[in-house]
Amino acid sequence: MPDYQAPLRDLRFVMDEMLDYPAHYARLPGGEEATPDVVAAILEEGARFAREVLLPLNQSGDQEGCLLEGGEVKAPKGFKEAYQQYVEGGWPSLAAEPAHGGQGLPHSLAMVLSEMICATNLAWGMYPGLSHGAADALRHHGTEEQQATYLTKLVEGVWTGTMCLTEPHCGTDLGLIKTRAVPTADGAYEITGTKIFISAGEHDLAENIVHLVLAKLPDAPEGSKGISLFVVPKFMPDAGGNPGERNGVACGSLEHKMGIHGNATCVMNFDAARGFLVGPPNKGLACMFTMMNAARLGVGIQGLGLTEASFQNALAYARDRLQMRALSGPQAPEKPADPIIVHPDVRRMLLTQKAFAEGGRMLVLYTAQMLDVVEHGQDSAERERAETLLSLLTPIVKAFLTEVGFEATNEGVQVFGGHGFIQEWGMEQLVRDSRITRLYEGTTGIQALDLLGRKVLMSQGESLKVFTKEIHKFCKGEEGNADMAEFVAPLAKLNAEWGELTMGIGMKAMKDREEVGAASVDYLMYSGYVTLAYLFARAAKQAQQAMAGGSDEAAFYQAKVKTARFYFQRLLPRTRAHAQCIQAGAEPLMALSAEEFGLGFEI
Ligand SMILES: Cc1cc2nc3c(=O)[nH]c(=O)nc-3n(C[C@H](O)[C@H](O)[C@H](O)COP(=O)(O)OP(=O)(O)OC[C@H]3O[C@@H](n4cnc5c(N)ncnc54)[C@H](O)[C@@H]3O)c2cc1C
Repeated sequence: MPDYQAPLRDLRFVMDEMLDYPAHYARLPGGEEATPDVVAAILEEGARFAREVLLPLNQSGDQEGCLLEGGEVKAPKGFKEAYQQYVEGGWPSLAAEPAHGGQGLPHSLAMVLSEMICATNLAWGMYPGLSHGAADALRHHGTEEQQATYLTKLVEGVWTGTMCLTEPHCGTDLGLIKTRAVPTADGAYEITGTKIFISAGEHDLAENIVHLVLAKLPDAPEGSKGISLFVVPKFMPDAGGNPGERNGVACGSLEHKMGIHGNATCVMNFDAARGFLVGPPNKGLACMFTMMNAARLGVGIQGLGLTEASFQNALAYARDRLQMRALSGPQAPEKPADPIIVHPDVRRMLLTQKAFAEGGRMLVLYTAQMLDVVEHGQDSAERERAETLLSLLTPIVKAFLTEVGFEATNEGVQVFGGHGFIQEWGMEQLVRDSRITRLYEGTTGIQALDLLGRKVLMSQGESLKVFTKEIHKFCKGEEGNADMAEFVAPLAKLNAEWGELTMGIGMKAMKDREEVGAASVDYLMYSGYVTLAYLFARAAKQAQQAMAGGSDEAAFYQAKVKTARFYFQRLLPRTRAHAQCIQAGAEPLMALSAEEFGLGFEI
């Protein structure tokens, strides 16, 4: 069975040494509770819960899957008990507002715990995972009554939430949804329609499920401007606020899928189900975005968690597995062969995983600080800046970390050789589980359009400039520091190129809008690599300073500098290919006619 130890030392490095979380928390209202001791205790306890409670259920949950019987869904053995422990431990309410029964700790702290959950049992983590987004949507857009009825229960974890967007004929293009909401005499609505692929749509972990559903009012305008958001409980809350009568929503079937078998992916049938409008009519998509943005960061963290899990197990295997001798001669002459970690190609795979895990962690924790400031910051200029960076980085966190997460888990299988392909080792499960992260919450293609089209080009490049200016300032500050030259020189060059590439696409797009779509995924990947380069440069600087100060953890800090060097020399050159593809433009993609594609007709 795979093992996992939460990367507490690395978390401390990024949080305390690199990003100065203690000062960040001290400045946040409510954050002063998150003293270094409290944070350390929470992380250690979270690490224990992930390893001791969730990890042992990961493989069994994958093999057992969920069961639908008489309309009720049973999650795999042990999932319900683990969820009870999670609720009793107060984990769901960690970062929620005290007004709604939460502990008021910063969001970033919950995101760190989320990495541990995703690393040990992604399928389980998706049951509570969607509740945070549902609670957020109700907190921002729900009426007082809706908040009183649903929010506290979601925050406590007694009830869980879902997000019901997708229908059989539409996932990306929600303007096409057919689910209808008809007003009733008492001010509620009857919701009728079919939603598919609904994560945790039905299960036995909690006593009630709160569905947030997109539907159209009878007089709604066509397309995405005519979508409204409704809250639809599985059981109608009674006068005491407890689950009462069963509502007209039921799970029709469970999807059989490639991964996350322990999570119930449901077809949900709404049959005149009683629902209540959340936010203004026809503004449902905007309200749902609150939930989707939180969920997008959450999916990026899934990519990170799986990368770390795969890396730890591949590393342990590479130390033990003996095959062949090093090309330069025996490294473990007392053994019949050398451990495979001596081979350069195995080290390439391990270091790729390690760099994406550490780089991804820095990116998540950097972005998490922006989220804290957006949610709780007191200074309006600071909040505005954090909002710009958060919105710029969210598609990068979501899509880049899941793309490289899939690569990293695949490399994990490769390190194990044929054994990686065998179920028992658990490495193939990580690949299967990670595959969905590139798809749901908006595919990589859609995140890329969001980044390039909405975030960068629509702001005339202003949002990007906020970030590239920060990188520029860092590079300027290191001018003349010979120890940092190997990082700063290439970073400064890429930072300038990032702006030039953006301008180039913007110019071409004025003549042909298809240029945006043609460049978008390469642009997103390019942006991800440069962003991680900036963070690795900062990490290297921090490590060099610690060593210069005479730290007694030389191996830890040396590893930071050497991992940064590996990243710059072996992964960052991928930006060259992405830049060339961006510059190649739309022509090679659009040149083939439908007939030439072999379709035999024009579209
Ligand atoms: C296991 C699982 C769990 C899920 N959980 C939930 C959930 O809880 N709630 C929920 O509502 N949904 C959920 N989904 C649905 C998921 O979010 C969608 O599958 C996803 O958004 C893609 O939609 P689609 O499958 O309809 O693909 P489509 O929208 O049909 O897209 C097909 C392909 O076309 C591309 N494409 C589409 N439009 C464009 C465009 N304009 N430009 C460029 N490329 C484009 C896409 O990137 C994709 O590659 C889940 C799905 C799965 C498989």
